[in-house]
Amino acid sequence: MAILVTGGLGYIGSHTAVELLSEGRDIVVIDDLSNSSALAADRIREITGKSFPFIEARLQDEETLNKLFSDYDIEAVIHFAGSKAVGESVKNPIKYYDNNIGSSLSLCRAMLKAGCKNIIFSSSATVYGSNNPSPYREDMPAGGCTNPYGETKLIIEQLLGDIVKSNPGFNATLLRYFNPIGAHPSGLIGEDPRGIPNNLLPYIAKVAVGQLPCLGVFGNDYQTPDGTGVRDYIHVVDLAKGHTAALNNMDGLKIYNLGTGKGYSVLEVLKAFEKACGKALPYEIKPRREGDLDAYWSDPGKAERELGWRAQKTLYDMCLDTWRWQKANPKGYEG
Ligand code: UDP
Repeated sequence: MAILVTGGLGYIGSHTAVELLSEGRDIVVIDDLSNSSALAADRIREITGKSFPFIEARLQDEETLNKLFSDYDIEAVIHFAGSKAVGESVKNPIKYYDNNIGSSLSLCRAMLKAGCKNIIFSSSATVYGSNNPSPYREDMPAGGCTNPYGETKLIIEQLLGDIVKSNPGFNATLLRYFNPIGAHPSGLIGEDPRGIPNNLLPYIAKVAVGQLPCLGVFGNDYQTPDGTGVRDYIHVVDLAKGHTAALNNMDGLKIYNLGTGKGYSVLEVLKAFEKACGKALPYEIKPRREGDLDAYWSDPGKAERELGWRAQKTLYDMCLDTWRWQKANPKGYEG
C-alpha cells in the first residue's frame, strides 16, 4: 500500500514526502515539473535514505494516471498539484480553472475507477474570503474569494464534498493552509519560485542573498498595530506533519485549518529574518497590493482536538530555515 503524492516535488509536497517516508510509509510521486525540479526527488531521497517511484506527468493525462493506479496499490492520495500564483490567476483565469479543476476532476475519476477512497486536499485560507472575522474557524461560511486561484480551491472543496456524499466510504480531508514558509532544517529542500517571487518570504530571502535590491512593503496604512499586513505564517515542516496526522484520521468529509493561530506583520517578519541572517535588509513602503486583506489568522484548535496536531516552530525557526536553504541554494535547485 502506498500514498500517491500529486505535486510531490513542489514546495509543500516535497516536505510532506519527507515526513511520509520518515514515518515508514511508501509513496509514489506524480509531478509535471511545471513549477518544480526533478532534483527535489534526489534531495528527498538524500534526506530520508529512502527511494520512491516518480512519474513525470500531468494529472490530466488520464491514461498515465489510470496505469499508475493499476501499477501501484494506492490507499490514499495527497493532492498538492496545482497552479498557485494569485496575480497570475487574475491575468490568466482559464489556465487556473483548467489546471486546478481539470486536474482534480481527472484525479477523482481515476480514484473512483480504481476504488481508491481517501484523499487529502491542499486547500487555502483564501476560501474564507474577505468577510469573516479572525481567527478563522472551519465552521464559518466559505466563499467571496477575491481571485480565481481562491475560487478554484473552493470549487475543488465542493467537488470533494459532493463525491463524499455520492460515494459511501469515500473520505476527503480538506486542509486549509495559512501562510507556509521556512524550509527543511537540512537546507536540502525549500521553496524555489521561478522568476521574481510574489510571496513575502522568498522575496526577503532573495534580498538577503543579494539577488534583489530591496523589499517592497505593500502598504503601511492597514488597521494593524504597525500598519503593515498581518498573516499566520506556519513552518512548512509543521504543515507537512499536519498531513500525516490527517492521514491517520480520515472519516467522511473533514475540514481543518493548518496554522499557528498567531499573526505577524510584514515588518515583524522582516525583523525576524534580519536576526536570522545577521544583517539589516533594505525595504521601502509601497502602495497596497490589490486584493490584499489587512489581517487574518487561524483558529487551529480543531486540528489539535481531532488530529492531535499542533504547529511547534517559531517565526525565528521559519526564518532561520529559509535562510539556510537560500544560502546553500542561492539559485534554487538548478543553481
Ligand atoms: N508582502 C509585501 N511585499 C512582498 C510580498 C508580500 O509586503 O513583496 C505582504 C503582503 O501584502 C501580505 C504579506 O506580505 O501582507 C504576505 O503576502 P504573501 O504574498 O506572502 O501571501 P498572501 O497572504 O498574500 O497569500
